[in-house]
Amino acid sequence: MAYEAVIGLECHIQLRTRSKMFCDCPVEFGAAPNSNVCPVCLGLPGALPKTNRAAIDAALRLGLALGCAVRAESVFARKNYFYPDMPKNYQITQYDRPLCVGGALPLSLDGVTREIALTRIHAEEDTGKSFHPERHGDRRVSRVDFNRAGVPLLELVTEPVLREPAECAAFLTALRRLVRWLDISDGDMEKGQLRCDANVSIRPAGSSGFGVKTELKNLNSIKGVEKGLTAEIARQAGVLAAGGRIEQATLLYDADHDRLAVMRSKEYAHDYRYFPDPDLPALEVDEAWRESARAALPELPWARAARVAERYGVPAYDAAVLCDQRDLADYYEECAAGADGKLASNWLMTEMLRVLKERGWPLAEWRGRVPAGRLRAFLAKVAAKELPGPLAKQVFAWMVDEPGAVEELLARHGVRAQGSADELRPLVRQVIEENPGPVTQYLGGRTATLGFLVGQVMKKSGGQAVPQAVKELLEAELAGRAISGS
Ligand SMILES: [Zn+2]
Repeated sequence: MAYEAVIGLECHIQLRTRSKMFCDCPVEFGAAPNSNVCPVCLGLPGALPKTNRAAIDAALRLGLALGCAVRAESVFARKNYFYPDMPKNYQITQYDRPLCVGGALPLSLDGVTREIALTRIHAEEDTGKSFHPERHGDRRVSRVDFNRAGVPLLELVTEPVLREPAECAAFLTALRRLVRWLDISDGDMEKGQLRCDANVSIRPAGSSGFGVKTELKNLNSIKGVEKGLTAEIARQAGVLAAGGRIEQATLLYDADHDRLAVMRSKEYAHDYRYFPDPDLPALEVDEAWRESARAALPELPWARAARVAERYGVPAYDAAVLCDQRDLADYYEECAAGADGKLASNWLMTEMLRVLKERGWPLAEWRGRVPAGRLRAFLAKVAAKELPGPLAKQVFAWMVDEPGAVEELLARHGVRAQGSADELRPLVRQVIEENPGPVTQYLGGRTATLGFLVGQVMKKSGGQAVPQAVKELLEAELAGRAISGS
């Protein structure tokens, strides 16, 4: 029988606020253990929590961006349970009256856009972190760090409307982009700033009932979410195919070994004894606050991608890549203003993004070297056909590492723009004829020999040729020889 999966995600987003949710302790990644703590986040008797307005602002940004309804009066509740990394023995969270309700995240996958419906988004505090077990002499010890206890978190819950592991990965990718775009979190899964639990069940394809679900906990990478769900769906299908029954369970996925392990078999009927936190007043978000948060929202990534595609005449795929980060979209629009939008997009997407990846640079580093005005001047020359293709690539490469306008770069490198194939081909052929040894080595797989051959052509041109153009011509000529069997 063919099955389909029914998946709902629970995502935790750690907010990039300066201080914790209910006290003034700083939020820092990598601080000395237990250095950012105070009576409030350690739960000492008599300490009183106070809600961090900046965290609620961040929650409003996310909720409003996703079209959620914002509750004018939401309530913080205590979720009671014992765990060593939770000093108060309860977590302050929101229960039956969360801040944001409903809403949807638009998701583009394989050219199709779907709205993934959300149940809710609520604000809460994080727990501490335990490390165990570590060996100390003959003893095994566990340690706990409370720096994370009380760090602001948002919990975002989807409706069970996701069907494919790949769709869940796309959802998380889109959510990560959005929290970065809104500047509320770094969304780094490896650092635990974005975490995901998944509920999954399967049912006969096309039916509408729900099977017994299991929960996958602590999926700590987007790939891990996809692989973990794929493994669990296969496991459930195997159990049913063998005539078995799915047991409700909480599972851990070990991404390194692609293995599922049962953490708790059968869901305990947890009684968290939720009740409104008597130390915190109801959280009131009046219209003025809500509307000022809405007014402060930037143009959202999907809206911006649609506008960029329309305004600059680039394909939807290009627009999506360019609008993956806000600063990239800003830079693109600065470069494309008054220029050929498609030309700008081509250079950014193929050449610039490649350099950023190779050198591990943030966009800010690039912008410092190649401000938009400089790139616009370059694009204008390319559009006017003043720089033939290979020469343009060469100039672009020089621009990354050297200052100066295009003319200055050409002058500095003694290039009079001898870049056309017609000018260079005779020199290239001559060098190939004169160097049978290196040519044979190159054709035999020693590609490093190409540098020597490029040098020979450069010498013959009196330094006037464009190295990138020479390289491409040589490769083309040599490939022709390799095919003709020499
Ligand atoms: Zn504190």
